[in-house]
Amino acid sequence: MALQKITVIGLGIMGLPMARNLVSAGYTVTGHNRSRGKTDALVADGGNGADTVAEAVADADAVITMLPDSPDVEALLAGEDGVFAHARPGTLVIDMSTIRPDVARTLAQQGRESDLRVLDAPVSGGEAGAVEGALSIMVGGEQADFDAARPLFDVLGKTPVLVGPHGAGQTVKAANQLIVAGHLQLLAEALVFLEAHGVETEAGLEVLGGGLAGSTVLQRKGAAMRERNFQPGFRITLHDKDLRIVTDSARTSGVTVPLGAQVAQLVGALNRQGHGDLDHSALLKLVEELSGRKH
Ligand code: NAD
Repeated sequence: MALQKITVIGLGIMGLPMARNLVSAGYTVTGHNRSRGKTDALVADGGNGADTVAEAVADADAVITMLPDSPDVEALLAGEDGVFAHARPGTLVIDMSTIRPDVARTLAQQGRESDLRVLDAPVSGGEAGAVEGALSIMVGGEQADFDAARPLFDVLGKTPVLVGPHGAGQTVKAANQLIVAGHLQLLAEALVFLEAHGVETEAGLEVLGGGLAGSTVLQRKGAAMRERNFQPGFRITLHDKDLRIVTDSARTSGVTVPLGAQVAQLVGALNRQGHGDLDHSALLKLVEELSGRKH
């Protein structure tokens, strides 16, 4: 049966534009957020609003969650008054937040015990990807559930891929966050290096972008970093959380990630310095500080 009534819980930087895209594609979308203002923003754009989880999921064919961290998703899905307690049997529950792979596996099992179908489907592509419906979506779970969710994924993104069983989507997302943090740190170092040598960085980044050093990180973040515009985007607090997932999972599986561990320290330091609400490209601030340079 095709999915038509979609509930989106967590209408933040990512969830709100994703819900809007589903409205534009003709789905009946109900939104729920902890603070009501964001739900009202979706209602203004043609969605429905719900004040409680029970009300939000009662009638849904699919429930998408887009929340900050593992404890948020655990409480919202498996908590006493949560999604698993109130969704109809057979409802497809798609968690698109970035959380720990082991938590995703446990939630999938708990969902199954409530006769629900669960997918972990974290995304990459940032706010721009969410707004443009161009997210990369890495999915863990059953093939049949992936196939059922595919029309929704095709609205939200360009590259949905079933990467393995429950939790595998989150493992791939952790690898994604490792790569992105490393790229950002090296881009930050390169920019400060170019500036210290008096090179015009717009031209410098243009030519770097055309060679092997080019990357989506450079394309998307380079200009804002040159201008010291660290408006999020993707907040430092969230990347700090993601790099904890990377370093914890690496230790559990016996993998050594020396560069990942270093960049995790740097992102953590920025967070503890009080920069948690800046974009993750604010790694540049730390490179300047460590270099004794002020912009
Ligand atoms: P955000 O903080 O902007 O949004 C989270 C929203 O969830 C907020 O509106 C908050 O009020 C709401 N919320 C929190 N707890 C809730 C609850 N119990 N019930 C209802 N609503 C609740 O975060 P975001 O940037 O949209 O990120 C969401 C998830 O997506 C995170 O796991 C993040 O790591 C991941 N992600 C973010 C980006 C990005 O560029 N921002 C990119 C890829 C993945």
